[in-house]
Order: sequence, then structure tokens, then C-alpha cells
Amino acid sequence: MTDIPEHLASAIVTVDLAALKSNYRTLSARAAPAACGVAIKGEAYGLGMAVVAKVLWAEGCKNFFVARPMEGAELRRVLPDAAIYVLDGLYSGQVDFYLKNRLMPALVSLVEAQEWALKSRGAPCAIHFDTGIHRLGFTPAEFAKLCADADAIKSIHIKLLMSHLACADEVDHPMNARQLAVFNEHRKLLPDVPASFANSSGIMLGADYHFDLVRAGVALYGDNPQPGGPNPMKPVVTLHVKVMQTRFVKQGDTIGYSATWKAPRDSRIAILGAGYRDGIPRKLSSSRSDGPAQVFIAGRRVPIVGRVSMDMMAADVTDIPESEISRGTLAEIFGPNISVDEAAGWAGTISYELLTHLGNRYHRRYIGSES
Ligand SMILES: *Cc1c(COP(=O)(O)O)cnc(C)c1O
Repeated sequence: MTDIPEHLASAIVTVDLAALKSNYRTLSARAAPAACGVAIKGEAYGLGMAVVAKVLWAEGCKNFFVARPMEGAELRRVLPDAAIYVLDGLYSGQVDFYLKNRLMPALVSLVEAQEWALKSRGAPCAIHFDTGIHRLGFTPAEFAKLCADADAIKSIHIKLLMSHLACADEVDHPMNARQLAVFNEHRKLLPDVPASFANSSGIMLGADYHFDLVRAGVALYGDNPQPGGPNPMKPVVTLHVKVMQTRFVKQGDTIGYSATWKAPRDSRIAILGAGYRDGIPRKLSSSRSDGPAQVFIAGRRVPIVGRVSMDMMAADVTDIPESEISRGTLAEIFGPNISVDEAAGWAGTISYELLTHLGNRYHRRYIGSES
């Protein structure tokens, strides 16, 4: 991941590795005696895969899930001894790459299983079967067919049986129990193979959902795995944007493209150095119908005003004493004072999207690695 020195960056992503470790321990304790694996796809949800992977490995994590084979290869260079599963499954012609990097595909169909059987020379893989999310995976019928074919089963080394929940973040959603029943039913076909079912929110659904290995993702990075209730996770990521310039505008002056915000009084405006190219959703612009999105600066929350543009955005700092904000002052977009979930909510999205869209124009700072 590219890095930009702090003095050359207009914005800073701070990743608190002590909080990450603490979250890993919290989730591991919840999942025990199941092992706690981690989803580290998408640069560890935008935090930086190499750093995050090393920290989690040092905490005792042995099983890692990425989306793409290239991510797996990058992770392999960082962790020579980890078990690495690739959730994409297998496109035709990829087996050699998997073998070379000792990656395990989560196979999603009979076609994939056949190709793996033919070319994998006994290398391990996972079988991903669909219990109701209807995204990737063997249908239960296909899975039964695979299990009934003794030769096929003998010719692939299945190290993990997995499925994925559609609605785990809604504790009372009937889909959870329905998917669990399908999983339990079909798992009987391969009773000796370790099983994995729960993502972050699934871990919170209780021991029935844990099986042998859980796949923690977004909660590691600070997201609340049970939205609506108190968040047991510590915030890990803070996004700070530097003030580029402050300016005074007269009542009636407008800010930014399309002049969408008109100053209701003489105002002081801070221009901040990140925009939608940096993953700041344009939906945070001040035209939101249910009140303005906010940033946290000089100890308080202030509204975002005008349109978020490609490289910058604006906040109304009229109510903050002039001396407290100047060029280079940091405004928090999310972090300890505004949760990622809250900021994502203003943009009509979820923390996953906000984190994974951060882009590469930030200085990334990792703190808390000594603890
Ligand atoms: C991303 C992913 C996870 C982790 O999900 P979170 O909701 O981030 O905890 C687990 N399993 C699969 C198959 C995934 O794609």
C-alpha cells in the first residue's frame, strides 16, 4: 500500500493496533472453544493488510480469509505459515497460482471441485456451500451430490466446510435459524471436516453458530456487530483531515459547487483536504434532508456545509473561537468522537463501505503496536 509522508498528506488515517488486538481478544473469547479466524480482504477493510495480518498472527490467529487470489499471494509473503483461504473460489486456470502460493480456494461448485481434483495434487481447499444467502456456494443438492461421489471426495482434500449468513446483524431475523438448520443438516454428510459459519455478527448469535472456526471481519476494525445495542468493540480507525484554509463569508454567500449552501449569517468556514476521491461520500454534502453530517474539530461537532467535492469539503466553524482553528488543524471525520457507524449512517451506507473506500492519498499512521 502506498504511503504518503505526514507533512505531504492533507489527511491522516490512524490505525490503533492496541485496539485491534483488544478486539481480536474479545471476539476470540466469545468464539472459544472455536478458533477465531479473520477476514482480511480488501487491505484488511482499508486498514492495510500487511500490518494488520502481522499483528493478528502475533495474537495467535492462524486462519485468514481473503477475497482474491492476488490478495492471498500478498498475504503469503507476509505470513509464510498461515492458513489462507480465498473466498472467490476458483476461476479456470488458476490452480497453479493457488498451489504456488499455498492458498486454499473456497470452492463453490462441482465444476470448481472437478478442476481442483484434477490439478491440485492433494492440496487442501474449503467447500463453500450456500445455506440461503444465495450468493456464492454449492447448492445443498450439489453438495449432497459431491459427498455421494466417493471418488470425488477422495480426490480433493477438504480442510474446511463453510457457509455464510445473510442477516447475522439482525439477531431476531428468522433467516439465521433457517440457515443454521440447513448447515447442520448438510454438515452430517462430511462429519469429520471442520466447519465454519459465523462472521462478526454471527459470533454474537451464540455458540450454536460457532462450530470449529469463526471468520471475524468488520468487528475487529471497530464496527458494532450488533447494531442498535452498545458496541463491545473499541474504535480502531480514525480519519483526520487537515484544514487547508479558513475563510470568512457574508450572510447569503454560498459555498462550493452548485451553491447548495447559503450562509444564514456571517460565517467562518474551514476547507478540509479530503473529498470523494478519498472515499468521503458525496452524500455527506449539506443537502441531506435529515440534518447536516458533522465533523469533529477543536473539541466539538460542526456541520459539513456545501457539496463534498473531489479533493475537499467544507465545515462551518463559526461557533469555534477563531484562534482554535488554523491551517493544518485536524478535523475528525470518524474516530473516537464520531463512530464509523454514525458517519456511515449519514451517508446512507455502512461502515464496511466507508472503510474500504478510503483510498491511497492518506498518510497512514499505526499506533499502539508496543502494547
Ligand atoms: C467478509 C466475510 C466475512 C467477514 O464478515 P464481517 O461481517 O466483516 O465479519 C466472513 N465470511 C465471508 C464469507 C465473508 O465474505
